[in-house]
Amino acid sequence: MIIRGVTSDRFNNDKYKQMNTLEEVEKQGFVTAELEKEKNLVEEIARLKKEKNAVILAHYYQQEEIQDIADYIGDSLGLAQEAAKTDADVILFAGVHFMGETAKILNPTKKVIIPDLNAGCSLADSAPTDKFEAFLKQYPNHTVISYINCSAEIKALSDIICTSSNAVKIVDSLPKDAKIIFAPDINLGKYVQKKTGREMILWDGACEVHIEISADKLKLLQGKYPNAKLIAHPECQEVVLNDANFVGSTTALLKFVEEDDATEFIVATEVGIIHKMKQAVPHKKLIPAPAVTNNTCACSECPYMKLNTLEKIYASLVHLQPEIFVPEETRLKALKSVNRMLELS
Ligand code: SF4
Repeated sequence: MIIRGVTSDRFNNDKYKQMNTLEEVEKQGFVTAELEKEKNLVEEIARLKKEKNAVILAHYYQQEEIQDIADYIGDSLGLAQEAAKTDADVILFAGVHFMGETAKILNPTKKVIIPDLNAGCSLADSAPTDKFEAFLKQYPNHTVISYINCSAEIKALSDIICTSSNAVKIVDSLPKDAKIIFAPDINLGKYVQKKTGREMILWDGACEVHIEISADKLKLLQGKYPNAKLIAHPECQEVVLNDANFVGSTTALLKFVEEDDATEFIVATEVGIIHKMKQAVPHKKLIPAPAVTNNTCACSECPYMKLNTLEKIYASLVHLQPEIFVPEETRLKALKSVNRMLELS
C-alpha cells in the first residue's frame, strides 16, 4: 500500500528528507510516508509507537478505526488528565489542534504531534485573542473561566479552564458573589448559568457541529421512536437541551446509556461517540441526532475531527511531525489555568 509516498533515491539523504517533511507541514499541514506493500498499517503504527515510546490519545469524535488503535480514548477532561500523567516521550494527539496544545502545555519536554494541523475547531476559532483581550478589558475584576475548547492564548488570558464534565462544579467552586466571565461557548455558558443559578458574562462563541443539530428533525425522530430518551451535549442549543432527558459531557452520555434502563436513545452530539456506545451497550438502539443540513450520514459529524486518518497517524509517527509548539510565556500562563481545573476535577 502506498500512501502518497515518495520513492526517489534523493530521499535517502536525511537532511533532504527532513526539509521535505517540514515543507509538507508548511504547505499542507500534514506529512506523508510510504508504507511497503507487504506491511500492515495498524501493525506498523503499533511498531512505531513502541520504537518511539509514543502514546496515542484519541477523542471520542475520532473515526472508529482510530479509536480502535488508541491507547486512551476520552473526552477533553479525560484526555487532559491522561496527557498530564503519561510517561511516553511522544504524545500523538488524535483530535484537534487545541487538544494538542493542551497536551503541550502540560508536557513541555515531550514531543506532541497531531496528524493534521488543519484539524482546527470552530469554537476555538470563535475567540480570537485580540478581540478576547479587548472584551476582558470591559469587565475588570471578573474571574475568567474558559472552556478547554480554546487556543493556548485564550487559556493564558483565563483564570480557570473547564470542560463540559466539570464546568458546573468549577463555577460553583467560586464564591457566590464572584463576577464571572464564561467563554467561549455561549450554549454551555447558558446551561451552566441555569444549573448554578449564577449570572455570568458570556462570550458569544459556538461549536458549528452542535448548533447544527436540528430541533425540528429531532421532533420527527422522537415521534418515530416514542420510547427513546433524548440525551444531549451542553454545546447544543437551548431548544435542544430543554427537550433532553439528560444533558452531559461525552463521557457522561456514554455512562448514561450504560446505566439507564431505557433501551433506545437519540444521541445529540458528534456521531463518533456512537462507536464506544455500541461497544458498551450492543443490545440498545442508538440513534444519532440529525443536522440541519441534509448529509449522507443523517448525523452530526465534526469535519475537523474527521480530517485525521490512520495513514496520517502512521506518517506522523514516522516523521514525528507536525509538531505542536506553544511559546513558553503563553504556556506558563495557560498552565496555571489548566492546573486549577485539574486540581478542582
Ligand atoms: S465538535 Fe465542535 S467543539 Fe468539537 S472540535 Fe468539532 S467544531 Fe470544535
